[in-house]
Amino acid sequence: MPMATKLLPYLTPHRWRIVWALLQVLLIAGFELLKPWPLQVVIDNALGGKPFPVAVLSSSPANLLLLASIGIVVVHFGAGTLTLLHNYTAIRIGQDMVNDLRGALYAHLQRLSLAFHSRHRVGDLLYRITADSFAVQTMIMNGVLPILSALVLLVGMLVVLFPLDPVLTILALTVVPVLFALISLFNRKIVEVASDVRTTESRVYSLVQWAMSSIKLVQAFTKEEEEHRRFMGASRESLQATLRLYSWQTLYSGTVNLVIAGGTALVIFAGARAVISGTLSIGQLIVFISYLAQLYAPINQITQSWGLIAGARVGARRIFEILDTEPDLEDGTRNFPPDGAHGEVAWSGIGFRYRPDTPILEGIDLKVPAGIKIAVVGPTGAGKSTLLGLLPRFYDPSAGSVAIDGIDVREYTLRSLRNQIAMVLQPPLIFPLSVRDNIAYGRPGADDVAIEQAARLAQIDDLIASLPAGYDTLLGESGASLSEGEKQRITIARALLRDAPILILDEPTSALDVTTEALVMAGIEGLTAGRTTFIIAHRLSTVRRCDRIVVLRGGVIVEQGTLTELLCRDGFFAEYYRTQFAPQEDRAGQLKVVV
Ligand code: ADP
Repeated sequence: MPMATKLLPYLTPHRWRIVWALLQVLLIAGFELLKPWPLQVVIDNALGGKPFPVAVLSSSPANLLLLASIGIVVVHFGAGTLTLLHNYTAIRIGQDMVNDLRGALYAHLQRLSLAFHSRHRVGDLLYRITADSFAVQTMIMNGVLPILSALVLLVGMLVVLFPLDPVLTILALTVVPVLFALISLFNRKIVEVASDVRTTESRVYSLVQWAMSSIKLVQAFTKEEEEHRRFMGASRESLQATLRLYSWQTLYSGTVNLVIAGGTALVIFAGARAVISGTLSIGQLIVFISYLAQLYAPINQITQSWGLIAGARVGARRIFEILDTEPDLEDGTRNFPPDGAHGEVAWSGIGFRYRPDTPILEGIDLKVPAGIKIAVVGPTGAGKSTLLGLLPRFYDPSAGSVAIDGIDVREYTLRSLRNQIAMVLQPPLIFPLSVRDNIAYGRPGADDVAIEQAARLAQIDDLIASLPAGYDTLLGESGASLSEGEKQRITIARALLRDAPILILDEPTSALDVTTEALVMAGIEGLTAGRTTFIIAHRLSTVRRCDRIVVLRGGVIVEQGTLTELLCRDGFFAEYYRTQFAPQEDRAGQLKVVV
């Protein structure tokens, strides 16, 4: 679809303002056409003695001079005021479009799946939302509207100039085909360089975003200088691209001016010869030349705007690249009953790969009755998070299906599906909101009693009480900072409050000491009763609390059963237990499991 068609839906809401802007364009053109008139009155009537066509008080030269002087001020004042108004209207249209486009882009990005997000750099997306979106404003304010107003002015000028002197007018227009040739010659280069500018600039954004979010790592490994060098390298590259763009734009603009100067020289040369041969008066030549500047102004404007549009098109293209990305998760139509899912979950014949050449999960068949607690264990990278991520449809499987209560999760609407699931994710994420809003994130409008109850179960209520403003204390970037264990407990409280029939807990207590963990797990236990719960577990104490254990290794379920069954089988889990879990037991000073 061409860019103009894509932009149309963003233009239509502002159609009346656009009509108003076009009306202003006509009025400004009218004033521009009037600009050389006072000069003609001075030369022809006041100085040249030609009778003034309209009867004024007295057509004495002094009166006519006064009239012409007032005329100059009035015409310029009118044109100036209208231009001011027009600029404001154009900026307003451009800004509104930027706002709408940004909103659409942000909403679309939030809908795109994690698979999309894992392929894109955050810095690049940031650049598209913050900077590329301004391209539409450039296109409207410095492109389309100036071109339209220039076209109107151009037609007006031609209507005035032709009767004045057709030959000189045609001579003046000989520059137009040359300018068209310049446009097509330069545009391709400008688009190419503008594209480099945006790519390199977005790389700078990505580097800053990455370095700032990994600042601890950078400082721990004393990599500040290397990161600084990397940043300066990217920044220089972007600067060079920007310089190249400016150079091409300046060269273009200079060449356009030169061609226009050539046109002016041609007209002056031919006009002066006509004066010498007596076919043209000096007054007529002066008026024609002063109109000529006004004829070239819109031609120049159209050519220059074309160059700006060429650069801005690149930004608009980058925005539509994202907007045109179809959400790879097609939404279903079914809704769960109002009292929620029953909670039976089944993975059947699941195969999954993030990249076409690397299978992550293979041949997974797992049926989980409603209301039981499953521990998912296995080495890092075995595919535990991926397996559970298929349930809320963070990704869709490459083969097979996942079903809740016997129905494929793809048939449900994403909203209804995800409302059935509460999650504690790794790493624990805290928003720059108050403690209360952080806990109630998954259930806005929850009352204080419920929020405090969730905090109590997650063993975080005492800490909240000690914060300066209690539940109203601001957390995150600009507020109180919490330890990993405290953040973890906030996220547990958040999941508990969500009150969903299915719980997914990704190593929910990994950052807690043994005593706190026992207390938190006791809190979670009260809630998990009757809910289907999946816990990615790295601690034996957690595994022990589960009804069933599923062991993953290299993307395949190698064993499943109760703790006793698996230890008796003396297979992979038993070995894993001996190397991974038993030392934990020793450290905790507790007795080993007696089988
Ligand atoms: P676990 O939870 O058992 O540690 P994961 O499910 O997180 O394992 O990861 C399984 C495998 O998939 C790992 O090899 C990991 O590198 C890979 N992986 C995880 N997320 C992505 C992703 N977004 N893109 C590509 N590969 C991924």
